[in-house]
Amino acid sequence: MSNPTFLIVGASLAGAKAAEELRERGFDGRVVLVGSEPERPYERPPLTKDYLRGESEREKAYVHTADYYAEHEIELITGTTVTAVDLNEAQVTLDEGQTLAYDRLLLTTGAEPRRLSVPGSELAEIYYLRTLADCDALRERLDSAERVAVIGAGWIGSELAASARTMGLDVALIDPLELPNERIFGPEIGEFYRDVHAQHGIELHLGDGLEAFEGDGAVQRVRTSAGKVIECDFAAVGIGVAPRTELARGAGLEIDNGITVDEHLQSAAEGVFAAGDAANAWHPFFQQRIRVEHWANALNQGPAAARAMLGGLAGYERIPYFFSDQYDVGMEYSGYATSWDQVVFRGDRDGGEFVAFWLEGGRVLAGMNVNVWDVNEHVQALIRSREPVDVAELTDVDTPLEALAGERSR
Ligand SMILES: Cc1cc2nc3c(=O)[nH]c(=O)nc-3n(C[C@H](O)[C@H](O)[C@H](O)COP(=O)(O)OP(=O)(O)OC[C@H]3O[C@@H](n4cnc5c(N)ncnc54)[C@H](O)[C@@H]3O)c2cc1C
Repeated sequence: MSNPTFLIVGASLAGAKAAEELRERGFDGRVVLVGSEPERPYERPPLTKDYLRGESEREKAYVHTADYYAEHEIELITGTTVTAVDLNEAQVTLDEGQTLAYDRLLLTTGAEPRRLSVPGSELAEIYYLRTLADCDALRERLDSAERVAVIGAGWIGSELAASARTMGLDVALIDPLELPNERIFGPEIGEFYRDVHAQHGIELHLGDGLEAFEGDGAVQRVRTSAGKVIECDFAAVGIGVAPRTELARGAGLEIDNGITVDEHLQSAAEGVFAAGDAANAWHPFFQQRIRVEHWANALNQGPAAARAMLGGLAGYERIPYFFSDQYDVGMEYSGYATSWDQVVFRGDRDGGEFVAFWLEGGRVLAGMNVNVWDVNEHVQALIRSREPVDVAELTDVDTPLEALAGERSR
């Protein structure tokens, strides 16, 4: 390859960090980063938190300074969508019809919000939240409204509800599950977060799905499956995301809950990679494919894909990690647990300062630290050890976690 072109489709966190890594590793060919959004790459977590509440500057959300891309000879093309990938010709088509040839291609096309299709879904004043533009529109509405109905008590819905409440709005939070995030974390953590919302004055409608939005042109109330009518000035929806795979599917790449890639983040088509929310990647530690829809995965998988594009041989096997902030409750979760036989707590669960562990056969599968900090790497070491732990020691705050983790990883 003389002066090769490495093309990255999707100019968000995973894509921007991949471009950065290519330059950091001394790649001196062309790096082209194409994104549909008008913005240069930014991080999304502030969009349910400080930025949404008007507490932080827009500038803080960006992945790099405005000058960074030119300074590093990264050709950033914003406001442009890649509409097709031709694997045989090794080229893509942009939305205005031009083509662009590549030597290596990285797809970081991310995910998009699932949308509701209940009666009334076409009404105005129903907000979804993925982009800075979505966030700006929502923030303006939060500034002028008194009452919002939030549909979905997953992480996005819960953080949005918490921010709206912190800004002084009345908030009704509606979810068909009995407890927030119950399906993923079980009842213990679900109860904890339900109580946090209740203590902050959120009106909870749990175990009750959404039947319809109602109003004259714009939503004025929502109707639940149980027949409750909840008045609101506007509604905000956070019911999960779906990986954005149309481009990869159109190219003939394998899609299975995301773009299927191996541990090097390479698809079955040589030289074509995927990372971030869009990628369902083989995970050597868990011995299965995993798609992770979280910030840290995009942050780390983008650079890992870049190294693989340069011929690096190390597979990506970080333990999945994410964080959430609601009111004064901050948490970090590490691991990957889809079933377990025990959940145990270390610390003050009622006081909201604890580490929860999900165990199977005495082995730690995952851990969540809530308002307890600097324990994450020890939680991850316990997970990696795969050794059974002594639950009495694990839940005893006087037994340092690092000692337990250290013992296990020797
Ligand atoms: C409001 C919000 C709050 C969040 N908070 C947290 C949090 O607290 N903690 C946490 O761990 N995670 C959080 N996340 C999740 C985290 O932001 C995502 O995991 C992360 O953004 C994924 O990055 P990505 O680069 O893979 O994809 P995305 O951020 O989805 O970006 C993909 C980009 O690709 C572009 N694109 C798609 N198709 C094309 C195409 N054909 N041509 C050109 N461009 C294209 C899209 O326009 C988009 O800009 C939050 C997400 C949201 C929306």
